[in-house]
Amino acid sequence: MFVQVAFPISSYQTFTYKVPEAFQKNIQVGMRVKTPFGRRVVMGIIVGVSKSTPFKGKTKSISDIVDTSPILSKHLWNVILWMSQYYLTPLGQVAKSVLPSSLSLKYKPPTKRMVEICTSTTKEDISSISSRAKAQKTVADMLFKSQKRILINTLNDFVSNPLDVCRKLEKSGFVQLSEIVSPPDVTGFTFDPVQKEIKFNKEQTETIDEITSAITKNIYQPFMLHGVTGSGKTEIYIEAARNAISAGKTVIILLPEISLTPQIAGRFRSVFGEEVALWHSKLTPSQRAWTWKEICTGTFKVVIGARSAIFAPLKKVGLIVIDEEQESSFKQEAPAPRYHARDVALVRGRYEKSAVVLASATPSLESYYNQILGKLSLLHLSKRFGGAKYPQTHIVDMIQDQEESGKYGMILSGLLQDKIEDRLRKSEQVILLQNRRGYSLVMRCGDCGEVVSCKHCNVSLTFHRSNKKLICHYCGYSPLGISESCNSCHSPNMKFFGTGTQRVEDILGETFPNARIERLDLDTTKSGTRITAVLQSFEKGEIDILLGTQMIAKGLDFGNATLVGIINADVGLHLPDFRAGERIFQLIYQASGRAGRGSKSGEVVIQTYNSQNPVIKKAAKLDLKAYYNILLNERKELNYPPFSWITKVVFTGQNQQSVEKYSFRIMQKLKGKFKGLDILGPAPCYFEKLRGNYRTQIVFKVSRELDPNGNKLHVFLEKNFFETQTNSNHIKMSVNVNPLSLL
Ligand code: ADP
Ligand code: ZN
Ligand code: ZN
Repeated sequence: MFVQVAFPISSYQTFTYKVPEAFQKNIQVGMRVKTPFGRRVVMGIIVGVSKSTPFKGKTKSISDIVDTSPILSKHLWNVILWMSQYYLTPLGQVAKSVLPSSLSLKYKPPTKRMVEICTSTTKEDISSISSRAKAQKTVADMLFKSQKRILINTLNDFVSNPLDVCRKLEKSGFVQLSEIVSPPDVTGFTFDPVQKEIKFNKEQTETIDEITSAITKNIYQPFMLHGVTGSGKTEIYIEAARNAISAGKTVIILLPEISLTPQIAGRFRSVFGEEVALWHSKLTPSQRAWTWKEICTGTFKVVIGARSAIFAPLKKVGLIVIDEEQESSFKQEAPAPRYHARDVALVRGRYEKSAVVLASATPSLESYYNQILGKLSLLHLSKRFGGAKYPQTHIVDMIQDQEESGKYGMILSGLLQDKIEDRLRKSEQVILLQNRRGYSLVMRCGDCGEVVSCKHCNVSLTFHRSNKKLICHYCGYSPLGISESCNSCHSPNMKFFGTGTQRVEDILGETFPNARIERLDLDTTKSGTRITAVLQSFEKGEIDILLGTQMIAKGLDFGNATLVGIINADVGLHLPDFRAGERIFQLIYQASGRAGRGSKSGEVVIQTYNSQNPVIKKAAKLDLKAYYNILLNERKELNYPPFSWITKVVFTGQNQQSVEKYSFRIMQKLKGKFKGLDILGPAPCYFEKLRGNYRTQIVFKVSRELDPNGNKLHVFLEKNFFETQTNSNHIKMSVNVNPLSLL
């Protein structure tokens, strides 16, 4: 008997080993083994088992088996193979990024003590408890009424030292104590006791039925669930998951960043309890290892997590949901494999024969287009649940507002300030979005708002401090000198603009000294528990104004938040990226979706310096269809995805000249290699110097018309970039297939 073994190293090969008699009975694909490799003994993973080997030479034997059962499933292994090929990344490197690095670490999860009433206990038994044992009586009474197993801790609110009380009751034979393992969690929302009564409307029922039918029929079916904010998408995932579990299947739910969405995790936990595993970046290595192994043994039926949860080693996956599928956090940018969890989900779904649901109120343009092409079946939820109304939106033209008020550089417009005051008076809550992703400097006209753009690419030029030039990051174009006047209105009032507004919190504090204000952004949310704490206290009404970056723009469901303010809708609008507009639209639309989700109606104030910009205008009208049509036309005209395939190759090295020369040579060498291949660059990267390294990039592009499945481009890239990650010039190349951004 022989096995093929892959190692977590940068190698595309697998290696064949002999299996000694003693191990043969237990060998399975997906187990780790120790094997001699060169002069060392290293750990690898079995990727194939065979009776014979085509190799003529001497094969070595494995030294030991590490696992007692596979830590990977066959389907998952196929996914890894696909990823290696598709993302042009060595197999070992893909396996390494899929498997937790710490699988051998030991971890003992904490346990929680539970109590429940014995089935034999009667009402009379409880009345027989002596009236002097008041605490015992109280507890027994509660347990008898609920007839459920509950956490002993939760009795703390009713009696002191509940464990002691329960032990006494156990002695009398009235209750039963037990322990449950509590899986690692950072959301702090475990066992959220709020149980809602759910009654699905017609649209919702039809949606659930379609998904369920794919699950029970055991077929691969990809869906796009396009449901407006507040239409009940989360309730639908829960119900579909319930149906998958009843059909003996398992479920993966991907959230954009799970530590930011404790609410959803909490809703799942409250329904599926101990069968849910959370998989996210805040788990410690040993918690990760434990969770992984427990998933392998079948302890969990549902895995909720961020991007990498798509690799959860569940068996019989019946349903995969990608919530907010347009989010960029689903794409791994570094290190390789630079995969998109949505694409991996579709591939895994194909192997597992499961329903794959790409869900959003604002789908990515790709999915939107794929649905038009019929590659995804559409599930549409057109209404907010329970007749909650869409918010009323207002655009504030900041240029005009400043002129009228004379307050240049102001952050809060008069309108937004008035509306905040109004909510504070009415004890309603406010969510303020301050998207700080404005690290870029662009040049803008102070009068008409026009931004200096590339004449070839129609994206804004970015200012480079090092050589004081405006440069296009797509094609490398740089105008001679910096324009002194506006191209559009000829005003000389040109200004650099774009740094994030850190001052908003201070200004809010000064303007509303009595308001309770909290800020959530990357700097304040290093720990997952703080996010939960802030969101929970917002839910309880202990915070009046919640200020945050895009992380608060989606997924949250607070009935008393009736005003959403977007401090600066333009941040990111002029990023030199073809997806900039799409992102801004989605952000504004999603943020607006946080207002007026309950019975009270909501309002949104959008502050902008570009009030005539089609993105802002359509977003303010929540007119998705109109804007997506504009986008589709624009992308088609400029031949960007979804009308083309693109791959970005980044060159990095310590010597600026050799990086530039080398990337130029590559471009020269590959130019015109096949018909329809478009090569953009080389151009300096958006971050042209990172950690002492100079960076340039080349973008390869081919239209779908000429290359319907992207195969031509793929084969071309494979030939030229697969084996050559580093070369003699000490220049590193990294390949990014389907990059989300060309920055
Ligand atoms: P989405 O994920 O589409 O934004 P949610 O699933 O968060 O929407 O639903 C919005 C609100 O409406 C939630 O509070 C949810 O519990 C409630 N809701 C949705 N559908 C139902 C239903 N069928 N019965 C009761 N409540 C519902
Ligand atoms: Zn102008
Ligand atoms: Zn250009």
